[in-house]
Amino acid sequence: MSAPIVFSGIQPTGRKHLGNFIGAIRQYVEGQDRGEPAIFCIVDLHAISVVFDPAELRERLYDTAAILLAAGLDPERCIFFRQSDVREHTELTWLLSAVTAHGDLNRMHQFKDKSAKQRELVSAALFFYPVLMAADVLAYRATEVPVGDDQRQHVELMREIARRFNERFGETLVVPEHRIPAIGARIMDLQEPERKMSTTGGTEAGTVYVLDEEKAIRKKLGSAVTDSGRDIVRSPEKPGITNLIDILAVARGADHAEIEREFEGAGYGDFKQAVAEGVVELLAPVRERYAELRPDEAALEATLAAGAEKARAIAAPTVAEVRGRMGIGPSR
Ligand code: ATP
Ligand code: MG
Repeated sequence: MSAPIVFSGIQPTGRKHLGNFIGAIRQYVEGQDRGEPAIFCIVDLHAISVVFDPAELRERLYDTAAILLAAGLDPERCIFFRQSDVREHTELTWLLSAVTAHGDLNRMHQFKDKSAKQRELVSAALFFYPVLMAADVLAYRATEVPVGDDQRQHVELMREIARRFNERFGETLVVPEHRIPAIGARIMDLQEPERKMSTTGGTEAGTVYVLDEEKAIRKKLGSAVTDSGRDIVRSPEKPGITNLIDILAVARGADHAEIEREFEGAGYGDFKQAVAEGVVELLAPVRERYAELRPDEAALEATLAAGAEKARAIAAPTVAEVRGRMGIGPSR
């Protein structure tokens, strides 16, 4: 089997959290050696689909870039860039919208969830988000998309868009597969374990940020919501404990059963302390490296610019082919 072409994107909204780290960033770092190439993108154009502040968006973009590099993305081993630097993404979005069913967009859970939370404006951008995401991936003819569980439906839609395009205009685009981690694909909010940990929608006390200090991490995990029972086992009736078992399993590189065995008969307090310890160890090196990288915005810009050039070299021919197939522009 040939090497996969890996593509994924992450939003520069708010502050990135443990769910992003476990569900996505960890997979990016692992994917950069399997992918040929592996392409990772900070999707600033997605971030404007909800309320945002322009100056803050730029700050958060640098924050996110520095977090990804601190976590181990190596621009020598992957293509790492800012979405808006490669105009092909937006052009392809429009072209693909011609083969995207309005009814499919209407069914997207993320739009339903996020639009319900908007107080000022439910933007058309929020509705159109999945088409831009399809363009992000299809522009690179990616075969593999590492994401958390919440993105399952969006990946399904981009597969449908690629299939429909190929059927209508001839074999052009690659139908990608999602890659969702076996453990940690859906890290839940520590205070509301029925909801995913989220950049824009979660509770402050229930969200562990990648850049949280040790003390904050211990406090948040110490006050994580559990349940009235006493067993440390995974179960649908125990969303809080299940979530903590997942988190510790990932932090230790262990599986669920090992964690359940180790904590058989232990109290919730001791267990939560162990989870906090695991998370501190997981995130501390990232926070330290981040502190070194974040101040040098010129270096971050240079890295992103070099990445954009490599990205454009792949995306531009795809978009040119799509235009040609659709009869857009002069014949080539
Ligand atoms: P928002 O809630 O505003 O959409 P987000 O926290 O989902 O923000 P994104 O940048 O949209 O952050 O997502 C980046 C990646 O992180 C995606 O692959 C997504 O599936 C993954 N991800 C997000 N939240 C979680 C979570 N709670 N557990 C596991 N993976 C997650
Ligand atoms: Mg998201």
